[in-house]
Amino acid sequence: MRYKVLILLFALIGFPHVALANSPNVTIVYSSTSNDVPPEIYKLDALVSRFSEDIHILRDTEVTETSFKKTSHLFYFGLNAATIPASTRKLINESNAALYGIGFNANQLRAFEKIDVTRIQGVSKFYQERTNTSLTFALADTVFSVNHQMKNVHARIAQKDKEYPTIIQLNEHFYSGIYNLLNRSSLLFADSLYDFFKEEAKPEHLGYIRLEDVNPSTDPKLLEKTGNYLLDRNIPVLLAVIPVYVDPDSGQAIHFNDRPKLLNVIKNLEKRGASVIAHGYTHQYRSSETGEGFEFWDVENNQPVLTPSDEQSIILKPEETFSNTKDYNTYLRDVLEGEASYIQSKLTKSVHELVSLGLHPLAFEAPHYTMSHSGYQLTATYFSNVFGQIQWSNTEWEVMGTTPYVSKPSLLHGMTLYPETIGYVRTDLPRPVEEMRRARDELLIVRESMIGGFYHPYIGMEHLADLVDMMESTPGFQWLDLRDQDEWVRTEDVSIQASNGTISLQDNRSPLWSQLELNMPNSFLEKSLWALVIITFTAVLMFLTYTLYLRTQRKKRLFKERG
Ligand SMILES: [Zn+2]
Repeated sequence: MRYKVLILLFALIGFPHVALANSPNVTIVYSSTSNDVPPEIYKLDALVSRFSEDIHILRDTEVTETSFKKTSHLFYFGLNAATIPASTRKLINESNAALYGIGFNANQLRAFEKIDVTRIQGVSKFYQERTNTSLTFALADTVFSVNHQMKNVHARIAQKDKEYPTIIQLNEHFYSGIYNLLNRSSLLFADSLYDFFKEEAKPEHLGYIRLEDVNPSTDPKLLEKTGNYLLDRNIPVLLAVIPVYVDPDSGQAIHFNDRPKLLNVIKNLEKRGASVIAHGYTHQYRSSETGEGFEFWDVENNQPVLTPSDEQSIILKPEETFSNTKDYNTYLRDVLEGEASYIQSKLTKSVHELVSLGLHPLAFEAPHYTMSHSGYQLTATYFSNVFGQIQWSNTEWEVMGTTPYVSKPSLLHGMTLYPETIGYVRTDLPRPVEEMRRARDELLIVRESMIGGFYHPYIGMEHLADLVDMMESTPGFQWLDLRDQDEWVRTEDVSIQASNGTISLQDNRSPLWSQLELNMPNSFLEKSLWALVIITFTAVLMFLTYTLYLRTQRKKRLFKERG
């Protein structure tokens, strides 16, 4: 008995240490001229999030004596040529952490003082040592080559028939001359992290296909055909569903309740094993069309959506127009409240409507993958995971991308990112599946990379079998089943939880009210007709009551007269 107590005590005391030891403590120090955290740093954080739940980001001027106290893995990322502050340099040199230098300035640090780097433009040919793979990327890159006879090289570049090291290892320290982490060549950097963190990788590539933009205007026959084809091949297909279609010309909203045949198809696919992703509520803003428009980014003004579609736009004032940061932050907090209530309303409506229809959303996908950083934070209270890509920049929607493997970027505040990595079947290309195969082949240089793509059901069966064959030919390929991933979706009243292949739903809304809401009239015409019906009905009722009243009065009078 005493031993048991001792063992229990030991386990209790020992457990937190074990947990900490499993997740490396990472600090990212960066040098940049930008005022905000640069998108490249968010990308680095996202790549590292595969290996650590404990990541701290510091500008080179913010490092203090205690910054690296618990750090086991330290990154220094120079985004431009600069002198690292002397105190920061000293603290990095004195740290016992394994160090990974990226880009500029790294040879100011003791670990890399012996290396000499040269910046080379127009590099498109790369070579990965581990897999003995040569790669040519479509877009040329600017990288640093390391001019030193290195024994331990992870990646090289090829330039004018000569090869130069670009990712190297010196004992436990690494240096990457690939520093445009938003570019395709960052795949080589992403893979090197497995060696830096000494992480064993599963010999496996998870993959998925999303049937994209399923909305009330979708052709039920094509959706049924494509969905059933994938399920027949034992593929746990994902359906990115938009609950409302808004016609850009009439402004009329069509719901799935107006399309019972289509709704039946979706319900049957879900019953057979498909998982539903909430792909926004209308997938549009103002006068744009569902599926085409952006919903969580005001593209016209390139800023977060601050007001509902039917209200006057607020144009975000730049920080320069404020005399101090405090005033600017107060202003920002005020206008972002508008964004918060917009997002809350859209996400709640999306989840509630899907659930009222009898569906069980398990994930979120932002239309065109765009959303502000405050938006992601709010979305994390509704969803445990996101599909697609991330908007790395909080000011430019086009600065977006993804990690090659499943990750948990700090930007997503706890949400898991299931990356879309191979694009989609583009019917404007002569051989769309070949394009996707090329992207897949590039991804194979990254251990555990995810092979995620999407397909528009309106294409029909053309290309679908080819796409599946191509994906399943990936070595170590496994289909991702979202129902096995412990994912959840929550609003104040509704909660959906997936676990071990089953989905549980808790709906605290009154069933009558949720059905009423679902069947509410939508268009102006419908609303006007309903109003007319109610007015007529009330008038008739009043007339009848009055007639009855008059009759009883007359009877009474007659009675009195006779009496
Ligand atoms: Zn979409």
